[in-house]
Amino acid sequence: MPELPEVEVTRRRIAPRLVGRRIRRVRTTSDSYLFLTPPSRLRRGLAGRVVESLERRGKYLLAALDGGGLLVIHLGMTGQLFAEGASSVRLLSATARASLSPESQPGFRPDAHTHLRLSFEDEGCAVYLRDVRKFGKVLLLAPGERHPRLERLGEDALAVRGASLFRATRRRAVAIKSVLLDQSLIAGVGNIYADESLHLAGVRPTRRAGRVTRRECDAIAEGLRRVLRRSIETGGASISDYVGPDGADGSYQDERRVYARTGAPCPSCAAPIRRIVIGQRSSHYCPRCQR
Ligand SMILES: [Zn+2]
Repeated sequence: MPELPEVEVTRRRIAPRLVGRRIRRVRTTSDSYLFLTPPSRLRRGLAGRVVESLERRGKYLLAALDGGGLLVIHLGMTGQLFAEGASSVRLLSATARASLSPESQPGFRPDAHTHLRLSFEDEGCAVYLRDVRKFGKVLLLAPGERHPRLERLGEDALAVRGASLFRATRRRAVAIKSVLLDQSLIAGVGNIYADESLHLAGVRPTRRAGRVTRRECDAIAEGLRRVLRRSIETGGASISDYVGPDGADGSYQDERRVYARTGAPCPSCAAPIRRIVIGQRSSHYCPRCQR
């Protein structure tokens, strides 16, 4: 599943192919749960518009359009946003790379999974949204229009600070790990980043959120930003929850301190890493370093 770093890597790579270009024609597949805005309205609403910027909030990509309005894209589990003729397999999720890397194959032709095709006035490369499992989302917002999916997103994980984490955790009886994964508090934190940042901060994932100190909140926030930035640097693609057959591909795999390292020695103290389940998600921690 694309996590925040993977979405950010996608944003950085696709932005130069989108921003400043006027959309000429929009082709879609037929209506499905992928389209929060019906395809016919999407086609009408996007044609003739210029993409002014491409931002990210949590795991959502937000393309601002001239005259206001926003094209919102979520990559879901297997979504791929790429330009015609793009050569980097890094644009793809681990899942997709394990099976197929369409844009790495010369002469990729949009297939049944290519749900959105944007062609431009400048007749340059088209931009495709391809999603095999269709858990992604496409939404077109009118100027000023709001949507609960975006409204309920918390602060972006790359911007999170100890002070806001401290405020959010006061009087909370749930595990700190659950708070970190709550997208309405912090947008974009996946399982791996939560585990890694808690290890960096020396806080056990089961600790009651309300018992985490201000100083520890600072350390967790700093740890989160550090692991997210680092995974963006390493390309993002191979460090999601999903580890495919090609999982060893990303260098971040080798940098994991606790995540999915059950029984392996803690990099700080060599105690065996433990695994527990919190809120149906597996959590990994060092019983000696994390209290
Ligand atoms: Zn340790």
